Amino acid sequence: MARFTDRVAIVTGAAQGIGAATALELARGGAKVAVLDLNAPGAEASAASIAADADVVAAGGTAVGYACDVTDEDAVGSVFQQVVDQFGRLDVLVNNAGITRDGMFFKMDRPQWDSVITTNLTSAYLCSKAAQKYMTEQKYGKIVSLSSRSALGNRGQANYAAAKAGIQGLTATLAIELGPFNINVNAVAPGYIATAMTAATAERVGSTAEEHQKLAAEATPLRRVGQPEEVAQVVAFFASDESSYVTGQTLYINGGLR
Ligand code: NDP
Repeated sequence: MARFTDRVAIVTGAAQGIGAATALELARGGAKVAVLDLNAPGAEASAASIAADADVVAAGGTAVGYACDVTDEDAVGSVFQQVVDQFGRLDVLVNNAGITRDGMFFKMDRPQWDSVITTNLTSAYLCSKAAQKYMTEQKYGKIVSLSSRSALGNRGQANYAAAKAGIQGLTATLAIELGPFNINVNAVAPGYIATAMTAATAERVGSTAEEHQKLAAEATPLRRVGQPEEVAQVVAFFASDESSYVTGQTLYINGGLR
């Protein structure tokens, strides 16, 4: 038996990047994975490629794409119900969808603030709220959310740092409230991971993805940036029974950079 055999997972923002790598990792462990994304064709394509992966097929896993804006409470409720209707249960939620809208604080306008808080933090509230309904009934669940090293403070990211610090507080509190229902709630806080998000940051500061990554690597004890798969493996650990007595924690995945 693979480690996620008979488990059903939802991964948000899984059309690309860390979310897509996480959905693949869970499916390779035998999970049935709902790939949610704002980008509907992206969700479909990501799910199709995961479902066709030889290791996923061998483990008995699969993936299905769903269009879902995780900031829309009605859409979240309806898609989560569709997933449970299709697969019969919900064991794992990965709150991964996120955006950046960077800028110095004195110039940060209200839409810049609101969009980042809503997409990175309120979405985790909405999705966790929807998921716990099924998980408490089953007396089983794993919720893993994406925080960030930026939660400790990062120039030009007051909105994002506040949202990602909020994820850590939400995680610690949900662990207390949902623990009696055998639901583990943890977070990961990646440092610099090579994805479209960090490539966009490079472009914003007038650099190339390669040059930006080189500078980040030089400042990192492991002397390289991280890859989406390296985050996915830690998320999968928290989503599995290998971490059954771990809850309320945030684990930094940052190559040693503080
Ligand atoms: P990407 O930008 O590559 O992927 C994020 C995905 O989320 C995109 O497919 C995006 O869709 C989707 N998304 C955005 N808004 C919504 C929404 N409202 N509803 C549903 N889906 C949405 O990001 P990464 O893979 O780099 O990041 C994934 C997570 O990891 C984020 O929470 C990020 O903050 C966090 N993180 C990333 C780090 C990094 O260095 N890359 C470091 C620390 C944390 P679309 O493209 O259509 O907008």
